[in-house]
Amino acid sequence: DQKFKVVVVGGGPGGLSVSSTISKLLGKNQVAVIEPANQHYYQPLWTYVGGGLKNFSESVKPMGDVMPTDAEWIQDKVTEFDPENNTVKLADGQTVGYDYLVVAAGIQINWDGVKGLKEALGKDGVTSNYDADSVQKTYKFIQEFKGGNALFTFPNTPLKCPGAPTKITFLAEEAFRLSGVRDKTNVIYNTSAGKIFGVDHYGRVLQQLANERNINVNFQHELIEINADNHQATFRNNANQELKSFEYDFIHVAPPQGPPKFIKESRLADASGFVDVNKDTLRHNKYKNVFALGDCSNLPTSKTAAAITGESGVLKKNLIADIQGKKIEQAVYDGYTSCPLIVGRDELILAEFSGYTGKPLETFPVDQRKISKVSQYLNKEVIPAIYWNFLLKGTWTGPSTVRSIFDPVRPKRDD
Ligand code: FAD
Repeated sequence: DQKFKVVVVGGGPGGLSVSSTISKLLGKNQVAVIEPANQHYYQPLWTYVGGGLKNFSESVKPMGDVMPTDAEWIQDKVTEFDPENNTVKLADGQTVGYDYLVVAAGIQINWDGVKGLKEALGKDGVTSNYDADSVQKTYKFIQEFKGGNALFTFPNTPLKCPGAPTKITFLAEEAFRLSGVRDKTNVIYNTSAGKIFGVDHYGRVLQQLANERNINVNFQHELIEINADNHQATFRNNANQELKSFEYDFIHVAPPQGPPKFIKESRLADASGFVDVNKDTLRHNKYKNVFALGDCSNLPTSKTAAAITGESGVLKKNLIADIQGKKIEQAVYDGYTSCPLIVGRDELILAEFSGYTGKPLETFPVDQRKISKVSQYLNKEVIPAIYWNFLLKGTWTGPSTVRSIFDPVRPKRDD
């Protein structure tokens, strides 16, 4: 059985942004990344893939190509944590020991949470951008759609990129206009939430846009069943528990999600099942040599790759300080996250805010609630390059420096 100075669980953006910096610092054979998958996905691109604006191939790289060269890649799954003994157990039965552990295993998609969904997915107008296979069907189904009911759902669970379900709604609505079927189409957005977007500063603008585009928004509607044989989707109204079925000709499902089972069942989890870390320092609340970031953590901000940019910078400072024997925490995370609200092929509202305070944390000295073509270009063409070349290599820790440069010229906000 092996032992490393630092063991990182997961080779997504969270795990790689941390392991690349730490392995460069400590040198070879000191850092291991435990990651079972052969492919690394840049999931934020999947909204564009589903909307027919990007090729799926641009969202994938072989895992071997993105692994830090100084880190040891253990291609296996972690099945158990033993933080009392500083080890993790792998699916092949081996254990791996560590001085420090960083957990970044993402969120688990619970396809079984909606009856009939697993069987229906990817066929006959039923799709989801939340899956590597089915995202490749979304645009095909949009193109084949000839009118009728187009349904879009938002689950009653935590989810990654809570903006993604609305983004595909807007892109599909526009596509139906462009293909000439819009006037015989009902675009219906059924969300389990009580509003269209959690942060009102942007949510008000988004709701107004939905009204203008005749998108029918129903709140407290949780998808519980898909009956593919008769094209019915059943929703439970969480306000009065009533069930209501909608006939669909196209349906995009944002599936229920939750903590990965092996985390939820471990000593690292809090009551919600996510890794229990301090929201300022990203250090585990009980085991001081354990850190977590990204979608598997219980950080009370929205789960995005954008949040990971800020989280990784803070985590690395605190971890490196600890390795170097400094006793005080070096950095504090402000909850920064971003939700690039794509509302058309050339239209984007760049929501940037702290998930901790709900207050905007915008990079640019303009009102970012305004629909912008430049922001769309930034998100579609520039940010993917930053992701691959800088975030995964550990050298991009978010836009806070750019923001502070613009601070002196930033107009005062009205809320
Ligand atoms: P992940 O990227 O999920 O990586 C986790 C890794 O852990 C995976 O490689 C997995 O194989 C590995 N793993 C799992 N289980 C184990 C195990 N037992 N042992 C070892 N390894 C394991 N974010 C944005 O910032 N902007 C956007 O516009 C945006 N849009 C999105 C649109 C869609 C459709 C989706 C699906 C996501 C979007 N996101 C967006 C969210 C973003 O992709 C995630 O927040 C981000 O990928 C989280 O990174 P992570 O490293 O925490 O987890």
